[in-house]
Parts: sequence; structure tokens; C-alpha cells
Amino acid sequence: MIRMNDFGGEPEALLQAEVRAAERVIRSGWYVLGTQVEQFEKHWAGHCGAAHAVGVGNGLDAIEIGIRSLGLGEGDEVIPTPMTAFATILGILRAGATPVLADIEPQSALLDLRSAERSITARTKAILLVHLYGRMPGMAPWVALCRDRGLVLAEDCAQAHSARVGGKTAGTFGAWGAYSFYPTKNLGAIGDAGALVTDDPQIGASARILRNYGQENRYEHSRLGMNSRLDELQAALLEARLPWLDRFIERRRAIAARYHEGIRNHALRLLALPVEESAHVYHLFVIACEERDRLAQHLKERGIESLIHYPIPAHLQAPCSGLRRDPRGLAHSEKHARTCLSIPCQPQMSDADVGTVIEALNAFR
Ligand SMILES: *Cc1c(COP(=O)(O)O)cnc(C)c1O
Repeated sequence: MIRMNDFGGEPEALLQAEVRAAERVIRSGWYVLGTQVEQFEKHWAGHCGAAHAVGVGNGLDAIEIGIRSLGLGEGDEVIPTPMTAFATILGILRAGATPVLADIEPQSALLDLRSAERSITARTKAILLVHLYGRMPGMAPWVALCRDRGLVLAEDCAQAHSARVGGKTAGTFGAWGAYSFYPTKNLGAIGDAGALVTDDPQIGASARILRNYGQENRYEHSRLGMNSRLDELQAALLEARLPWLDRFIERRRAIAARYHEGIRNHALRLLALPVEESAHVYHLFVIACEERDRLAQHLKERGIESLIHYPIPAHLQAPCSGLRRDPRGLAHSEKHARTCLSIPCQPQMSDADVGTVIEALNAFR
């Protein structure tokens, strides 16, 4: 089986580094918010070119904490895409703010600028860009739109570790970037983990308070926070995995390049190439096909796993049917959800595996 993820196939040297990291933490006798977390925060901030990184429990919490750290809540509108992991929308809702959904552009499946503009109201406070599948858009128009309309720009970077536009890393274009280190992400822990990166010392300080019960000084609670602390074990494991991130991404890019070159089938559509090579880290390689379910079955019969990201856009999820949206509707998101298919594109695939996937796709009728 050619799998979407293959942790068992990771290099022995990485496994050994993880075992050493875990042993170090267990023997240290210190398990929550300690030196491992501090180290990883420092290194992750450095990797992103951000002034601060705050380790939290997961990516969902990073988004909630990010929205709350902007002082947004009841009555404040935030514009995301409905074509995303549900956590993007849930993070806004849990912060008490109101998501207003704008449509995607079909070539990239990323938020459409004109649709976002149409969705702005007097209550709009922020645009939350999702770097879906690991791809960043050209950022200049978004920075300009937010500046011109007095909105905060924020980034959901859960799929886009190490993605860069114009040499600047995902999460550093606006007020903050939210990262998830869920195991399947390009940088994953061995359990749940997340981080918020920011250049703004006030947002950084607020995130540190919110992740720890709203505790400002020991046993003094200035806000109603949550328990969303990155633990020492996950921080140490992330630290062990970080040196592998960029070479794993290089492998993902090489596989994606072979897909772009080798897939020749009029029944399939590839998403457009990114604005520059560094803007896409291929967390997922997604194709579109009118007969998506039959294609998935065809691949399965040839030993190739595939997944759908995502079959149901946010506005068609039961608790979200009442959410406001672009007055012209979300037709591109709905079509994408009906036709998209993610095919294996992970660093442990062999060249032969990549060839097998290309042949199977080209043989689909
Ligand atoms: C995975 C993901 C999240 C949520 O991260 P968790 O760590 O699973 O909570 C949020 N947004 C996007 C786009 C994701 O892919």
C-alpha cells in the first residue's frame, strides 16, 4: 500500500534522536512548561523569523488564543475560507467572534480576494488566511487590502511550516500565525501540539497568559484563560524533528514536480503552480476530478491510498448552516469539495512509488 503518511518508514537516525529526547525529558522529572518548551519556542520563532513563539496544546487552541489576543470577541467578524480544516472555523467561534465565509479561487483553492472584499462589513475586524495544502498566496494584495480597510491580517499556518513568499515565512505577514504540530503535519509531534508566532510583544504576552488559565503572575488570574500548555515531551520531540523539516519538504517538492510533469489525463485537473517554488510545501498534493469517488476506488484497487480534504465545506456542517457568507455564495468551495482528492505526497515515498501513482492516474478512464 502506498500510504498518505508513513511514520514507520522514517529514517532510523530520526527515530534514535526521538528516543533520546524522550528519555531526557522523562529523566529530567519536569514535564510541563520548562526548558524544552523554552528552547523549542526560541528555535521555532527563529525558524519562522518571528520575534516570539508561544507553545500551546494544539492548532485549534493557537487560533482561539490568537483571536482572543487581538481583543476580538462578541460581535466582531473574521473572514476565513469554508474550504479548510474545521478547526479554523471552530477557533474563531470558540473565541466568541463571528466567522463570515468567503469563497475560494478554483485554480488554487485558496481564499479569493474579491470574495473576501465583498464579505467585509462595518463589523469586520480581521481576515484569517489559511495556507491550504501548504500553499501561500501572493501576500502583497492581502497585506494591502488589510491595510487599506483597517483590518488585522492573521494566518492559519497549520499546513504550511517553512512556506515562504519573497523570503518571508508563513505566519509573519500579519499580527500572528497559528501552527499545528499534529502528527501528520509537515512538522508533527507524537501527539498534539501547536504554537502561535508573532512579532507583537503584547500578543505574545497575552498568549502566554491565556494558555495557562489566564495566569499573569503565579496564582494571580488577570483573564479567564484555558489550559493549553505545550508539554516538555512534545517540545523535545519537535526539537528532534525540526532538523529534518526542510529536507522532508525538499522531498515533497520533488514528488510534486514529478506529478506536475508526469500526470497526463484530461479527466484530472492539477491545481495551479504556486507563485514561487518556496510558497508551497506540499503538505498535501490535491487533484480535482469530476468522478472523484470512482478515481479513489481505482487508486485503492492499485494499492494507493487517497483522502479528501475536505468533503464538506464549513458552511455545510450542521452547526454552521447559519453562518454569514459572501452574498454571491460559495459555489467554488462547494465544487472543490465535490471533486478534490489528495494523493500520496510524503517524504518516505520511493521514486518507484511515485511512478506507480502517476501510472495509475494516467490509466484512469
Ligand atoms: C490541522 C489544522 C488545524 C488544527 O490543528 P490541531 O492541532 O489539529 O488542532 C487548523 N487549521 C488547519 C488548516 C489544519 O490543517
